[in-house]
Amino acid sequence: MRRYWSDREAARLEGLDALVYATRAIGQDPELVLWGGGNSSAKVTMKDHLGRATRVLWMKGSGSDMRNIAAKQFTPLRLDELGALMDREAMSDEEMVAYQTKCTMEPGAPKPSIETLLHAFIPAPHVYHTHADWICALTDTSDSQKMIRQVYGEDVGLIPYLRPGFTLAKLVGEAIRKQPGLRAIVLDKHGLVTWGDTPKAAYQETIRMVQEARRFILHKGGRPGRVRTLRVPGTPRERRERAAAVMVALRGAIGRDERMLLLHEEAAEVLRFLSDPRAKALSQVGPFTPDHILHTKALPLFLELPKTDALEAIDQAVRKGVEQYRQAYARYFERDLAKPEAAAPQREPPR
Ligand code: ZN
Repeated sequence: MRRYWSDREAARLEGLDALVYATRAIGQDPELVLWGGGNSSAKVTMKDHLGRATRVLWMKGSGSDMRNIAAKQFTPLRLDELGALMDREAMSDEEMVAYQTKCTMEPGAPKPSIETLLHAFIPAPHVYHTHADWICALTDTSDSQKMIRQVYGEDVGLIPYLRPGFTLAKLVGEAIRKQPGLRAIVLDKHGLVTWGDTPKAAYQETIRMVQEARRFILHKGGRPGRVRTLRVPGTPRERRERAAAVMVALRGAIGRDERMLLLHEEAAEVLRFLSDPRAKALSQVGPFTPDHILHTKALPLFLELPKTDALEAIDQAVRKGVEQYRQAYARYFERDLAKPEAAAPQREPPR
């Protein structure tokens, strides 16, 4: 794993600037964070608009990209007011977001992340949260709890899966209060939380935790995805012509309520994935990291097309596939998303 930290550059920075630097260092590494995912915070004391010394949580704004984040994409929040919520029993997402808005010190600052309270409830001054690949490779399995104990022993906290929100943040806060010596927390089926007294310490802990997971997985015989030979039919030109026919049908089927632009992608990675006989099954396993869900929803539609080039047959297959996808998504929404804190599905990827 490459490192993106320079002591020389970091030494000149403090407060919000140091947070921006550390956030970018994490965001540079796609094994730690993809576009828009992960978040980071720093706790500082600064003057409010009346000149009163105030404890402040600088929190990454929701949806901004860690890779090239700027200071204005962080939001200052009154930390003591957020911290007071540790005494609450429960809180809905709506209540929590409304409360967070009231704690904001800067009108017009970006909406703070949904994981703000998780940061506020950790006493350490610097907290980073990622959905790192190697951590998710441990947590996205049916025996994740056992493996995490095997890798990290007892000085890493393990929180069972809950959707991000008040209860998850509170469980994290309680775990650290119960065991102040914890070095990090793994969120099952979700990701990693690390902290430190300095930005560098918290960054290094992120790297160490990920490296330990990587070493364990490689030692167990896990291998990063292998390159397979391409087995997609036709020449590039034939594929493009067929894609044009499919795109017309697809736009008709998904553009019922809203007009859509489509992009046809033939990158080598896409073709290699589709060459794998397990492509359909693998595409329906669910996203590997929460970073994916931000932009793709839970599952893609895997469309199986007829062998013929007859437009009518293609159109029929597309419409049928889209309609099945629509119904399946509605069922998933009712079952898993409409409830406040649904349990994680236990799925294993096909072998
Ligand atoms: Zn997260």
